[in-house]
Amino acid sequence: MGESVDRSSTERSAASGVASPWTEADTETVVCCLCGVPGRQVYDLAPFGLVKCPVCELAFISPRLTSDALQRLYDEPAYFEGGVYGAQSKWSPAMVLQRTWTAGRLDRIAEESGATPGRLLEIGSGYGLFLAAARDRGYRVAGVELSRTGATHSQRNLDLDVFCGQLADAPVPDADKFDVICFWDTLEHVPDPLAFLQEVRSRLADDGIFALSVPYLSSLPARLLGRRWWTLKPEQHIWHYTPATLRLLAAKAGLSLTGIVTSPVSRSNVTRLDSLVALGRAVPGSSS
Ligand SMILES: [Zn+2]
Repeated sequence: MGESVDRSSTERSAASGVASPWTEADTETVVCCLCGVPGRQVYDLAPFGLVKCPVCELAFISPRLTSDALQRLYDEPAYFEGGVYGAQSKWSPAMVLQRTWTAGRLDRIAEESGATPGRLLEIGSGYGLFLAAARDRGYRVAGVELSRTGATHSQRNLDLDVFCGQLADAPVPDADKFDVICFWDTLEHVPDPLAFLQEVRSRLADDGIFALSVPYLSSLPARLLGRRWWTLKPEQHIWHYTPATLRLLAAKAGLSLTGIVTSPVSRSNVTRLDSLVALGRAVPGSSS
């Protein structure tokens, strides 16, 4: 049994791309972004913890890495290497999966919007694979990416319009709204998901749609594996949702979820046992 514990923790550090362990000095405690109250501990993951808001049940990491420590993590090129976004061969299993998700997600977006392709923004555009595929389908695309490595690759090798930094700092004129905003595997990373979704809402046309993917805490692997759930990764995944808390959060930001895909056989989510794909619309008149 001891051996399996060791292996599990080694895998977790390897997956996080961090060589040295974090200490308490790298962490801060936070409150629920919806209710402003501290969470109650679910798992002790020292120096981190998984907690749950006693009011709305949104789960989050507290203590968690400070924004300075987090930036150091994202500036680390190894963050992308070995993952699904790195410079891998076109036919590697990870890249084939990426293209399958991308095609499935673009199909769902087309079904939901029902209109001709308009302006599409991807937040957290990584190496630009999804943006390039959306452009091939006729969208006018723009991206925002925190990692300099990913942003530079997108600009230089794919000729994409990608801003390196936070969405709030992106030089998009207020009048310039998007018809589609996507953020794949991003909402679990952002410091304040309510502020993030409000920013999304403010950039979305009144008849616009948004699409996201995110791990979820009510998935079978998360429930079965508990604190050993491989996607828990407390350094990077600082908010953990369920369909219910995701709906609540979206509603507070003036967004309404219209569909959630949890099936691991749906093309948009294929093989993903612990992640969901959600689509939604702006609530007209809710933009502040
Ligand atoms: Zn709450």
